Amino acid sequence: MKKVFDYLKTRPLAFVSLIFIALLYFVMIFAEFFAPYNPNRSFENCSFHPANIEFSPSSASLFSVREMRVLSLINFKYARVKGLSHNLKFFAKGEKYRLLGFIPCSRHLFTTVPDAYTGEEYPVFLFGADDRGRDLYSRIVFGSRISLTIGFVASFISLFLAIILGGFSGFYGGVCDFSIMRLSEFFMLIPGLYLILFLRSLLGSVTEMAPGQVYMIITIILSLVGWPGSARTLRGMIHAIKREEFVLDAVLEGVPGIIVIFRHIMPQITSLLIVSTTLAIPGFIMSETTLSYLGLGIADPSVSWGSLINRNIATLSNLKNFPWLLLPVLMLLFVTLAFNFVGDALRDYFDPYHIYFKKAKRQKGGESLPLAQEKNSCATPSSGGADDYKTAPATPPSFLTKDILLCVRNLNVSFKIMRGNKSVSIHSVRGVSFKMKRGEILGIVGESGSGKTVTTSAIPGLHPSNATVSGEIYYNLSSSSADFVNLALLSDKELRSFRGKKIGMIFQEPGRSFDPLQNMESVFLETFRNSTPEITREESLKKASQLLLEVGISDPLLRLKNFPHQFSGGQLQRIGIALALAQGCELLIADEPTTALDVTIQAQIVELLKKLNETRNLSIIFISHNINLVSELCSSIIVMYGGLIMESGSSSKIMASPSHPYTKALLASTPKFGTHYTTSRLVSIPGRVSDPANPVEGCPFCVRCSYARKECATVPSGKKVRSGEDCIFILQPNLSDGENHE
Ligand code: SF4
Repeated sequence: MKKVFDYLKTRPLAFVSLIFIALLYFVMIFAEFFAPYNPNRSFENCSFHPANIEFSPSSASLFSVREMRVLSLINFKYARVKGLSHNLKFFAKGEKYRLLGFIPCSRHLFTTVPDAYTGEEYPVFLFGADDRGRDLYSRIVFGSRISLTIGFVASFISLFLAIILGGFSGFYGGVCDFSIMRLSEFFMLIPGLYLILFLRSLLGSVTEMAPGQVYMIITIILSLVGWPGSARTLRGMIHAIKREEFVLDAVLEGVPGIIVIFRHIMPQITSLLIVSTTLAIPGFIMSETTLSYLGLGIADPSVSWGSLINRNIATLSNLKNFPWLLLPVLMLLFVTLAFNFVGDALRDYFDPYHIYFKKAKRQKGGESLPLAQEKNSCATPSSGGADDYKTAPATPPSFLTKDILLCVRNLNVSFKIMRGNKSVSIHSVRGVSFKMKRGEILGIVGESGSGKTVTTSAIPGLHPSNATVSGEIYYNLSSSSADFVNLALLSDKELRSFRGKKIGMIFQEPGRSFDPLQNMESVFLETFRNSTPEITREESLKKASQLLLEVGISDPLLRLKNFPHQFSGGQLQRIGIALALAQGCELLIADEPTTALDVTIQAQIVELLKKLNETRNLSIIFISHNINLVSELCSSIIVMYGGLIMESGSSSKIMASPSHPYTKALLASTPKFGTHYTTSRLVSIPGRVSDPANPVEGCPFCVRCSYARKECATVPSGKKVRSGEDCIFILQPNLSDGENHE
């Protein structure tokens, strides 16, 4: 609760609204104390009396009540009686009442006291009086009791119905689901207001019922109308959650369904329930007001904001002369807004993504990172700070020659995320530099969390808005000259001409890259329409068939009619590659394209990529955990760990004589046929990848490295550290002198 409160403090509008709502409910509970008069007390000759409190520093109470006389009983014009005013007393004795229904009291927040000699009392009207001379302020205060409680009670009953009916429907399914959903549709098909009016009309006239009865009837009607929407939402969520393993486990253990719903499923959606309740309350308050306004709800002598509006609008012709009669409408507006502000803030609180995406802005500046600043051994290192980024050269360095396709320099990527209530920076990539030639296949290998995907996603600018990116990403636009553009300086709109067109991407789970409701024909037609709008449908289909044949899909014209679920994972990966080629992709980023496939299909995809590299001179960045697979396909390899390049070079060199302890450990932990299965145990790398939110000052591998020495944890970045065997800690390729991965 304290955390929620602390969060609301960071949202001024929501916090003020919360205080306003709390104040209203407090005033509502102690209405007899806050209101000077009974809401039905009429004062003689005070019809449409204007507000009569004035600030008078000379008086003992600082405020006084002006005495006024009506000039005309036709238009109710009042004039001040000169020299006549009464002291306004705070916490003074006035009308007798029972606080909370049983404590006898007579003190009011403010009131006037009767004249000591005549015994006459001149009424105080904070907001003015209505047509019967009743104090509008007192009526609003008492009216809030019905309006505010009906909102609360109706929203809780409706939520209760939604939980029970939506819960049963989603959890049990079948006939139960069918019946409840049809019932909810019945309630939803009829417009809410008509349904309320219809149900209300069945229950007789308000004049024949006791106020409590009317209150109950209205609450039940509003609850009945309010549950279907929430029940359907809950049903959908429960339907998804009930397939989660922890729910299946509970079911397998024989836990009764109702217990599973309330103990295991409901806690998962508590936040949604809180938010939807908060947002539903103003809706119910408005509905009560509508009913009362139409004369079908609360009526005299009971008072609610709706009935106040009803009475005041009944004297419509006087509204322009007595504008204070519209104050109940304003109260309704403020309360509705307040609940909505609080509801919005609560929704944000329970949705960490929403919080943090709202706070974060896409920025290509970035923080200075401890390891990135000094470590790069490139000729012209960049610190990675925001200012450095802004001054990053738009013109490429002179060492970039025409045969280079891509050069990444000192790339830093960090993400702001929420850990509990704290915003922390995750330093995923720290000063990565590499370059690749046109037509080269470059492999990036490393464990999960080493920064492989984040590095390659930065090239076409595919990071979410909470990412902070700094560095230089040069891309050669020409195959015959050095025509480089710094992608890191391009806007999102400018980058769109690279994404998919020059730079394609395929991912680990090909099935998730396709819309399940689109067949391949429409996928290809859409792709061609985007890349070459002038192309005809026939030409598109012809090209699509050729591409499908090229990537190894037989009967292409028939298969174009198929939907994604009618293809295997390997086939979908081939189609993904074909789609990248369809837009003329020069650089294909293959992010673990074979991880979800079995070994024979893996080999086929690797073969296909090799073939496309040879026939189309396609440049490929191939990301994988599997260093053996990478070495089969790629001419050069980058080994990443903890967001840094540990080692890079030609595949043959790295596989034959790895220099870095991490590369050695990676190779040692790869199973080898005929060795590990038969003669020795498979070696694994002990420990875990260090927390990217708190990167170590020195070597990120130090806690797991078998050669580690004390100074490895603190050694300044970029320095060679030799301990045990050869270690070239963070030895970046020197881009300026032409060294790359060879
Ligand atoms: S710097 Fe130290 S901890 Fe890091 S790889 Fe080298 S020897 Fe191991």
